[in-house]
Amino acid sequence: MGFDEIKGQDRAIKILRQVINNKHLAHAYLFHGPDGVGKKKAAITFAKALNCADFEDDVCDICVSCRKINQGIHPDVTLIQTEKGEIKIGEIRNIIKGMIYKPLEAKNRIVIVDESERFNLSASNAFLKTLEEPPADTVIILVSSNPDMLPQTVLSRCHRIAFSNIPTRTLTDILIEKNGLTPVAADHIANLANGSVSKALSLSSEEVQGIRMDILSVLSGKGNVKGNLFDLAEQYSKDEKIFYEALDWIYTYFRDIIMMKVQSDLNLIINRDFYDHMISLKEKISLETLLDIIEYIKSVYKGQERNMNRQLALDVLGIKIMRSIA
Ligand SMILES: [Zn+2]
Repeated sequence: MGFDEIKGQDRAIKILRQVINNKHLAHAYLFHGPDGVGKKKAAITFAKALNCADFEDDVCDICVSCRKINQGIHPDVTLIQTEKGEIKIGEIRNIIKGMIYKPLEAKNRIVIVDESERFNLSASNAFLKTLEEPPADTVIILVSSNPDMLPQTVLSRCHRIAFSNIPTRTLTDILIEKNGLTPVAADHIANLANGSVSKALSLSSEEVQGIRMDILSVLSGKGNVKGNLFDLAEQYSKDEKIFYEALDWIYTYFRDIIMMKVQSDLNLIINRDFYDHMISLKEKISLETLLDIIEYIKSVYKGQERNMNRQLALDVLGIKIMRSIA
């Protein structure tokens, strides 16, 4: 993984390349921007670039240092991350303690703190002292999608590098290249992903595509139907993430039928593999009924914010759909 593989962040990557080439290194950086746009990847690549034995506008990825960082076993490159919850003071203290020694192998010791807004107060204070008097050969990179939650005293000591949402066109290209999606499917998922590569990749994952096939197969009575709509409602309402994925696909299905009614452009259809069934439904269901289903789905999205019962919501939606296509 080099700078070239971080897509859609040309501005940030250009700055990082300049830092390496000009050797104007700050002691602390803050990589900030939305979730899933490549901040952590850029931080790790920056750590590699700072220590690469053969850097030429990008990391070589084959020198000892690059390989050790790739494997997460470089003694002078530390990545602090939490699963959930806070970054613990003990962990920070151990790292700060290590900073009094010279790096073992690297030119620059690198400490990357992912989701750094999860610092608790005492961890922040401990870290602040390090930021005030940083050891000469140490570079600290704070990564955050909520930098406003970091104390001002920490923020003021960091050189900021801004990361932005990935353009939809770039996401589409990534999905076609990495997951082999068709341009239409890739474009649709890219639009749903709100500028986040990780969201786009997760939407196109086997798990999510499996949910899509289950939902659309049941709606169209096609393929290996695992049960009826109500069985799926029970299955998909247990987990919040899966619930929303299921709801998204039901939405796209009826949105497609509306598009077929009002436009004849095949390029606008997301679920083209279900075209045959949708074309027969298009004749059966009135536009009014379709809009009613879409409105109900929208109200379910809103209702979830008020802790509406997920299974009940899907059951009611199922009844509406069964009535409309019966
Ligand atoms: Zn290298």
